[in-house]
Amino acid sequence: MKIKGLAMLGIGKIGWIEKEAPKCGPLDALVRPIVVAPCTSDIHTVWEGAIGERTDMILGHETVGEVMEVGELVEDFKKGDKVIVPAITPDWGDINSQRGFPMHSGGPLGGWKFSNFKDGVFAELFHVNEADANLALLPEGVDPVSAVMITDMTTTGFHAAELADVKLGDTVCVIGIGPVGLNAVMGANLMGASHIYAVGSRPNCIKVAKEYGATGIINYKEGDIVEQVIAKTGVQGVDKVLIAGGNVDTFAQAIKMLKPGGIIGSVNYLGSGEFIRIPRIEWEVGMGHKSIHAGLTPGGRNRMEKLTSLVEAGKYDPSKLITHTFEGFDKMEEALLLMKDKPTDLIKPVVIIDW
Ligand code: NDP
Ligand code: ZN
Repeated sequence: MKIKGLAMLGIGKIGWIEKEAPKCGPLDALVRPIVVAPCTSDIHTVWEGAIGERTDMILGHETVGEVMEVGELVEDFKKGDKVIVPAITPDWGDINSQRGFPMHSGGPLGGWKFSNFKDGVFAELFHVNEADANLALLPEGVDPVSAVMITDMTTTGFHAAELADVKLGDTVCVIGIGPVGLNAVMGANLMGASHIYAVGSRPNCIKVAKEYGATGIINYKEGDIVEQVIAKTGVQGVDKVLIAGGNVDTFAQAIKMLKPGGIIGSVNYLGSGEFIRIPRIEWEVGMGHKSIHAGLTPGGRNRMEKLTSLVEAGKYDPSKLITHTFEGFDKMEEALLLMKDKPTDLIKPVVIIDW
């Protein structure tokens, strides 16, 4: 059987292709997408060539879907189940998973399979490894359009707050408030931050940042963000900086606004630039206990279930992130190109296929 999908044909090129349908191993599942969302990472991958050349690789890693087939050893899922599919689907028995880093199972970033090492979810059918460990049932009462945000945007943004170990009463600066940074704001808020300064410029994002808990807004287009943060906090700066936007030079700004002992939590996917430079003086000549924790989001079933429980409990509303809704499988290309163009009113587009 052949399936159709929207693929990266090579760096800078996308198009529709046909491929043999994936095969289902004994622990695996085959799923058809019912809602998908394009990601800024798809843009870095295709148009910046950030992870190198890929040929005819189906794109996409954010979806809620319907199980079409399960392998004979799968216990908890069956055909017809509606499932949240995490962007990161680790091999749970891998040695890096055992070390506590399942997102790096099989090697650096190896848990990120869809649209990286294997065909992604912008397809009529896609393959999920270790279904029992990597799928989560879509609960009654959580709509699939909101749930698609959890697969990557929520988990990644919240991970920035986890990486920085946000604690009760911390003052936090979140650099970048696209959909990931907005979730970093929400994550910091849920973890107990007091003042949260959000750096961005788009009005829609600023509105949601305030709704998710930002107490101050800093526009990076209106002057140096370090000066703007220091003007709000006094010379001391902030306890934590979460990075979800900017570029390789953003780390120098983060170091400069951080208190001694502070932590940077970065989830930014650095699509270009050779080196990240750390300013020696503001890094307190190497002795300031200012740390940088940067990483790929965790994934897997338990992570999806935990994050979804925040939606069920009414503590977090991911639907605020969705600004553009397309209907129909064929609209994936339009949605992806919209993500590339980033009009100012865009936070996140979704494509509803059917359900
Ligand atoms: P967006 O492009 O939507 O948002 C980027 C944000 O950064 C915007 O708020 C933008 O401001 C701001 N920004 C841009 N340039 C600067 C600058 N020079 N200084 C300060 N702020 C700036 O991206 P997403 O939210 O979709 O994704 C954020 C990052 O997270 C991407 O790199 C993405 O690839 C990555 N990512 C990482 C994952 C992980 O697991 N680690 C998973 C998923 C995504 P403005 O308001 O002007 O647009
Ligand atoms: Zn993504």
